[in-house]
Amino acid sequence: MSEPDAIVVGAGPNGLAAAVTLARAGLSVRVYERADTIGGGSRTSEATLPGFRHDTCSAVHPMALASEFFSRFGLTDRIPFALPELSYAQPLDSGRAGLAWHSLDRTVEDLGRDGASWRQLFEPLVSHGSSVAGFVGSSLLRVPKHPITMARFGLRALEQGSPLWNVRWHDDAAPALLTGVLAHAIRPLPSLAPTAAGLVLATLAHAEGWPVPIGGSQSIVDAMAADVTAHGGEIITGSEVTHLRELPPARAVLLDTSARGLVKIAGNRLPAGYARRLGKFRYGNAVAKVDFALSGPVPWANETLREAGTLHLGGTREEIATAEHDVANGRHPSNPYVLVSQPSVFDSTRAPEGQHTLWAYTHVPAGSTEDRTEAIIRQIERFAPGFRDLILASAHKSAVEYESYNPNYVGGDISAGDVDMLQLVARPTLSLNPWRTPLAGLYLCSSSTPPGPGVHGMPGWNAALLALRDRFGITTAPSLSPTPDQLLGRQP
Ligand SMILES: Cc1cc2nc3c(=O)[nH]c(=O)nc-3n(C[C@H](O)[C@H](O)[C@H](O)COP(=O)(O)OP(=O)(O)OC[C@H]3O[C@@H](n4cnc5c(N)ncnc54)[C@H](O)[C@@H]3O)c2cc1C
Repeated sequence: MSEPDAIVVGAGPNGLAAAVTLARAGLSVRVYERADTIGGGSRTSEATLPGFRHDTCSAVHPMALASEFFSRFGLTDRIPFALPELSYAQPLDSGRAGLAWHSLDRTVEDLGRDGASWRQLFEPLVSHGSSVAGFVGSSLLRVPKHPITMARFGLRALEQGSPLWNVRWHDDAAPALLTGVLAHAIRPLPSLAPTAAGLVLATLAHAEGWPVPIGGSQSIVDAMAADVTAHGGEIITGSEVTHLRELPPARAVLLDTSARGLVKIAGNRLPAGYARRLGKFRYGNAVAKVDFALSGPVPWANETLREAGTLHLGGTREEIATAEHDVANGRHPSNPYVLVSQPSVFDSTRAPEGQHTLWAYTHVPAGSTEDRTEAIIRQIERFAPGFRDLILASAHKSAVEYESYNPNYVGGDISAGDVDMLQLVARPTLSLNPWRTPLAGLYLCSSSTPPGPGVHGMPGWNAALLALRDRFGITTAPSLSPTPDQLLGRQP
């Protein structure tokens, strides 16, 4: 086997984003992936029954649509997405619900007395959706391109991330609806970092929308892998890299691993001070997930919820905050917060005709081994009585099983590093270029670097651009546009 110019370890969305960028710059690239299939947190498989296709990790992709990398890659020109009109919903008891439509106007109308406050919160951000998506991570260390929008964003994050978070609301639906998004980050609420991350997602719900890829999240990484190989790259699966010495010589090595993985793989080649700082990088709490194969659509008490791409269960703002407080204190909540996606409502490839898949996960303390299937079913039943009777099969993954599945998810932390304010900026260490390590030619390109978790490819893109500049003297970003035969509808 010839020696490649550049090596990427890990074929998750960020490793593949790096590989695409390097291959499109004309380098020979080799990717090593420990699992037997590519994709990391963007895989789809028949986890329950034949014909039911479940997303193992990520399912909903607002970050992909807002990402500069995927925009350059022409993702939506390569693979089809379904865009639910109802981006996300928050069921409440007695059949009531908060509804976040793709249309901000429709959302405002439905929220009654709190509609005007919702508009005031989001309208100035929605018109700059893509730039809002860049307002977290190391961009905070740089001069902002849109300072006024950034200031507006900051003020809103300060309000909704503090004990003042109820000042603008009159009823319970709007704050509950917003809390469902703020709780994504697995942190106690109210607090600043999850609110900043959540406000980005909530803004995107009204800007780009919250899409699901037809065929599942696997189709995103398959399109990336196809681009790598079409430009001369090779991807070797079933090949775990445990130390740099196992790799052939290459001028650049990019690791799509956690910060902990970087320390293991580089061993004592890293300067001691840097290794010590990486050792202080903290991992957060975790998730446990259940995939369901269903004989029919979920019987939500509020029928409009059948149109929602994503739902956040747990009830009111206060109930969700209590659940997240429990997790932060090492407990499994009796009334858990549950994220639900119902992709088969929008994508007929996910289940046999008339039947459905349901994707649901809940937050648990790091390292949890508990099976949360029953707790998740009970929370769904609360808002969809009769749900249990539709279950044909289910597949559970605990927090520790997530780590065995993918070592980047330390203790089941799906963000590959706690998302608090410090670690949003210093990820994994404080630097204007945190993707570069002090070891010449070695880069970290995973979600342990800015802008953090999500399928957006930005860590991979940023790390690859640095490697191109440092190691190959290439200062112009390569074109990532699809070739004519990669365009949607032209694939074989
Ligand atoms: C349950 C769950 C739900 C999620 N939901 C969403 C969602 O809806 N939307 C969204 O945008 N994001 C979501 N995410 C987050 C998203 O999946 C991740 O942030 C994203 O996949 C990170 O990409 P990555 O390339 O940095 O790492 P990963 O996707 O984790 O990929 C890393 C890859 O590297 C491989 N690897 C690691 N170590 C080695 C080694 N030593 N040798 C060789 N290979 C190695 C791993 O096997 C893996 O394939 C979710 C994650 C989980 C787990």
